[in-house]
Amino acid sequence: SQKVKDAVLIPRYARVNEHKLTVQKAIKSFQNEGYTLVDCPEDLRELKLKEFCIDRHLRDMLIFHQKTDFHAHPLYVSGNIILQDKASCFPAHVCQAPQGAHAIDACAAPGNKTSHLSALMKNTGKIWAFDLDSRRLELLKKLTNKAGYISPVHGSFLETNPEDAQFANVEYLLLDPSCSGSGIISRLDHLVDDEDEKENNGKDANGQTQEERLKNLSDFQISIIQHAMKFPKAKRIVYSTCSIHPDENEHVVKAILKNNPEFELAERDSVLPTWERRGIPAEINGSKDLADRLVRTIPAEDLTNGFFVSCFVRKSAASSESN
Ligand code: SAM
Repeated sequence: SQKVKDAVLIPRYARVNEHKLTVQKAIKSFQNEGYTLVDCPEDLRELKLKEFCIDRHLRDMLIFHQKTDFHAHPLYVSGNIILQDKASCFPAHVCQAPQGAHAIDACAAPGNKTSHLSALMKNTGKIWAFDLDSRRLELLKKLTNKAGYISPVHGSFLETNPEDAQFANVEYLLLDPSCSGSGIISRLDHLVDDEDEKENNGKDANGQTQEERLKNLSDFQISIIQHAMKFPKAKRIVYSTCSIHPDENEHVVKAILKNNPEFELAERDSVLPTWERRGIPAEINGSKDLADRLVRTIPAEDLTNGFFVSCFVRKSAASSESN
């Protein structure tokens, strides 16, 4: 389909690991190699081979032609640049954890967002990085072993005790739980899968309908967010998915707002205000104000994976900050 074709043309995004290298030094290094720094074209597909630009929304992101292959590049091999989709770099920025903060990455492996969060915190403070899957957690350990103050924890975030003294100062939580992955470009063939599902009485390999699968996922996503809200000092909780389904996005946010009146959505000003594509009002009480506080991306139009980001803030924390 046209969508899949467009998706293939997504540019090469490289996040500079500021913990190891400044953006300026990364730029110099690519220029010395023969790359030319240009202003980002309106349509990123117009970037030519050997050209690159600094992303307009994320100051630590460089963008190259889609055919650029960095997998054997020394900056990639040494972890100075991370090949990470642009949209998946949104959550750590939205988290806004300052230097020295205590943070939790609840569903962290393989660790792309943990490493980003740590770089933005200038490798100070503390991050507990939970994951249920030990094999994936090994990847996180590899990716973050030099990223400083990160404690990988093997186990379910849902079973951690928010009252545990070690978490007493945790104010920032990043939640990127398992989702349908319906926004991931290589899986845009879900458009085709949907057709297959119809032929199989609408059920997937586990005998679930899409509706059942989404319901199970959103119940789990809601439980992760509500658990995060139990941490006594939690004041900024970022929830993201790589799904395009409202069931896992706006509908989850709606359920959380209804059941947890002590939290509200962070204002648009602090949630990537320059990113234009926001949540879908019709999926969240018809409220343009609430939808405006959410961020969405669409592969064919934004040239990133399909992604969703929201940020909950504790009402008392929000009002005491503005006082
Ligand atoms: N944030 C990761 C990154 O940027 O590299 C990707 C996370 S992936 C979307 C979701 C992760 O949640 C999976 O690694 C999965 O093993 C983990 N997970 C699922 N249930 C969990 C639970 N109850 N507690 C902790 N991790 C869980």
